[in-house]
Order: sequence, then C-alpha cells, then structure tokens
Amino acid sequence: MTKTALVTGASRGIGRAIAEALCEEGYLVCLNYDQSEEKAIDLCSDLRSKGYSVMIYRADVSDSSQVREMFERVQERFGPVTLLVNNAGVSCQSQIQDVTDEMIDRVLGINLKGQINAIRCAVPHMIAQKCGNIINISSMWGMRGASCESLYAASKAGVIGLTRSLAQELGPSGIRVNCICPGVIDTDMMAVYDEATRRSLAEETPLSRLGRPEDVAGAVRFLCSESAAFVTGQVLTVDGGFTV
Ligand code: NAP
Repeated sequence: MTKTALVTGASRGIGRAIAEALCEEGYLVCLNYDQSEEKAIDLCSDLRSKGYSVMIYRADVSDSSQVREMFERVQERFGPVTLLVNNAGVSCQSQIQDVTDEMIDRVLGINLKGQINAIRCAVPHMIAQKCGNIINISSMWGMRGASCESLYAASKAGVIGLTRSLAQELGPSGIRVNCICPGVIDTDMMAVYDEATRRSLAEETPLSRLGRPEDVAGAVRFLCSESAAFVTGQVLTVDGGFTV
C-alpha cells in the first residue's frame, strides 16, 4: 500500500524536520502550512529537487472545512492518508486573569480542535483499511503544567487525553495512536525567551542542551516504523531528561 503522510504545520520548526524525515522513510508527504507560504514553497522545492514526492497545502487546522478540503486534495493526489502527524501549534503566555476570549479560541482551536479536525478526516479510510498511524505532538508542559502558560498547557494535556482515548477506541481497527511530548526545542517558538532564559533552560536539562527539531523527528521515525508495531496510547517524552 502507498505510504501517504500528512504533517500539519510543516512549514518550519519541528514539522519541517518531521516532513523531511518522512520523505527519507519513503512516504509521499503533504506539507500543511497556514501563514508561512514562502517557507512551505521553498521546502517543497528543496524536497522535490532531492527526488521526493511532496505537495503543499494551505489550511488553518482550526477550521474544519479547510481541513476536510485538504484531506480530499491529498487523497486525489497521493491516495488516502496512512500516517497523520498532528504537529501544528501555537504558544501563548498570559496570566489567567488576562486571558481573552480570542486567546482561548486561538490556542484551543489550533492546538486541540485542530488535531481533532484532522483525526476526524483521517480515520474513516484507516478504519476501512484496518490500518493507520496517528502521531500527535503534545508538550512536556501538557504533562507538567506551566505557570503563565495555562492555556497552552491545557491544550497539550488535552492532546494526551485525546491520544489515550483514541488508542483504546481505534486499536481494534488496527490504528495506532501515540503522542510525543517535546521538551525545550530550538525553533521560532522559543523566540519569546531571552538568551539568559534559553541558557538556564539548557542548564536545567540533564543532557545540557536545548533540543533540535531532528530530535523530535527521530521519535516520529520510531513511532511510524515496524519496530513500534505493538506501541499505542503512549506518551513519548523527548526532552533531554528535563521532566525526570
Ligand atoms: P513553530 O516553529 O512556531 O512552528 C509552528 C508550526 O505550526 C508552523 O509550521 C505553523 O505554520 C504551524 N501552524 C500554526 N498555526 C497553524 C494553523 N492554524 N494551521 C496550520 N498550521 C499552523 O513551532 P515548533 O516549535 O516547530 O512547534 C511544533 C509543535 O511542537 C507545536 O505543536 C508545539 O506546541 C510543539 N512543541 C514545541 C516545543 C518547542 O520547544 N519548540 C516544545 C513542546 C511542544 P505557519 O507558519 O505556516 O502558519
């Protein structure tokens, strides 16, 4: 069967590294993006120049009709999605009394509803095939909680609950559902932190460095491989030991 992967938020950062890894693993890959069109186009050209089959598709994952449309276009081009990586996400820092309705809608809409939107579109074909693989990107803050990032942490804790529930619900249909909790990974999302904070986060990490997008992509390679054929409902932390 053709291996078709859809990676949400693949224009940069962790999603980009995951998309590159999946090309190397032999998947046809749809790179989803929302705002960073130029970056998505550049990545697409780069991967095609290396001989990989990729397409790009702009869709805001929080909008279910855009997500549905995206799945239809991917199916036309590459066949049904066999691996979904729900990676798109946004951060948000605010004390709880200052949280606005817009922040709630944006953070929960992209980080949690966005994953649900994509999963709803992916599973009918997976159930019909009795086979499929879903990997949700959560965060160590979803396990631990984070002061002044309660919305973000709540959305990522929701992803863990979603993953464990769907592993139970979809396991009998041959679909594995796992999630990855990255620690502090050096991407644009870290831009909110100043240099001193970045240094202290690296010092707090037993492996003494910030994570790289490729560290998370490595965990995706494992979870989508035959080596993980009996692994489902798991929360795989990729944080250099930060939460130990
Ligand atoms: P990033 O560099 O800021 O990239 C975020 C990606 O999400 C971009 O490709 C962006 O696409 C996409 N995105 C945002 N809103 C979207 C929407 N509405 N629809 C579709 N795509 C959207 O962040 P990152 O660090 O790579 O984070 C990737 C994932 O890892 C996120 O879920 C994040 O919460 C999680 N994570 C990151 C860290 C970390 O330390 N970096 C730690 C734990 C978990 P456009 O630019 O095209 O809009």
